[in-house]
Amino acid sequence: MNEKASGAATRREFLMTTAGTVAGLGAAGIWAGGAQASAKASEPAFTLATMPRIDVHAHIRNDWKLMDDYMALRQALKERLNVEMAMWFSLGSSKSEPPEPPDANELRQRYQGRIQFSIFDYAIKDGLRYSPQELVHWQKQGVMGFKFYPGWQRGVQIDHPAHEPVFNTMDQIGMLATSPHVSNPCGTFGRRSEWFDEPVEFWRQQHAWENVLKKHPGLVVVNAHMLWLCYSDEQLDYLRYMLSTYANLNIDLATTPVFWHAVGRENLRAFMIEYADRIVFGTDVGSKWFVPELDKQFPEVRDKVPQYQRYFDLLETDKELPSGIQDEHKLRGLALPQEVLEKIYFRNAMRIYPHVGETLKRLGYFGKG
Ligand SMILES: [Zn+2]
Repeated sequence: MNEKASGAATRREFLMTTAGTVAGLGAAGIWAGGAQASAKASEPAFTLATMPRIDVHAHIRNDWKLMDDYMALRQALKERLNVEMAMWFSLGSSKSEPPEPPDANELRQRYQGRIQFSIFDYAIKDGLRYSPQELVHWQKQGVMGFKFYPGWQRGVQIDHPAHEPVFNTMDQIGMLATSPHVSNPCGTFGRRSEWFDEPVEFWRQQHAWENVLKKHPGLVVVNAHMLWLCYSDEQLDYLRYMLSTYANLNIDLATTPVFWHAVGRENLRAFMIEYADRIVFGTDVGSKWFVPELDKQFPEVRDKVPQYQRYFDLLETDKELPSGIQDEHKLRGLALPQEVLEKIYFRNAMRIYPHVGETLKRLGYFGKG
């Protein structure tokens, strides 16, 4: 009994203290500290209007007309919300044709680095699409990383030994796992979802992914959708455990706001502040899950200002806003401190992803030279 009780106390302490340890002293923290200390001395003070915002989780097809539309959306966001959407990272699309990123030179020329691509594989049942040699080739082409989608079908085994050569290569060459999507939302009883109504299978898939992280401490990962551990207070605790245990794990926010209503607002806010160094902004723009109700009303890319406004308001204000797949719940915005917002919108992306720091500097966000 006693042992158990003291074990529980230690565990609570662990959860309360390790976030700071990992963020402050771990590898990720050291990179952040060095880069930020030197950058901050000379850089301008940002405001909500001037800070560059990066959407790391976009589904932009390899289609020049569509990419032009994102530049029109950028302009509309500036005019209507007075915000600076600096970059989008496309994870491709399951419907993409051809299934490859566009020509890197033309992409750079047309959009000055504002649109970046990852290579991607949306069906891993038949093995991961790229061989180790191909990963090296695409990294030389300047892609951001590799997005893969184990999905949630029953029996998917992301930790299958057949995937090892790919993970080993990514680890060796420093290729980022850009928003791999593991499992799918599965709430507690009464809040199972249309995608996932089996908690046992949900946790099996979570643990299979943990096996990959355990085996590859050098593989840097930004898991999509808060790793789908954001649909109850208990899941958020498990996410704390994951982030505290795996220093190379980061998360994006895409689509998660529709599930946040199920989490205590103060708990979620504390989590965002505690793990501010490990969270990047992403939305799922280009899929129908980008604020689903609004996306039905504003399906054209250049019109998607209200969807972005929902995300920004949830993070920046304490307004009461809709949440839920059909906006059927309410959620009060998190009103995060500006320092946290800067990390989520661009500073963490500068540290974690290739090309971002140099691109933002070239675009003039840090002054002229
Ligand atoms: Zn997505």
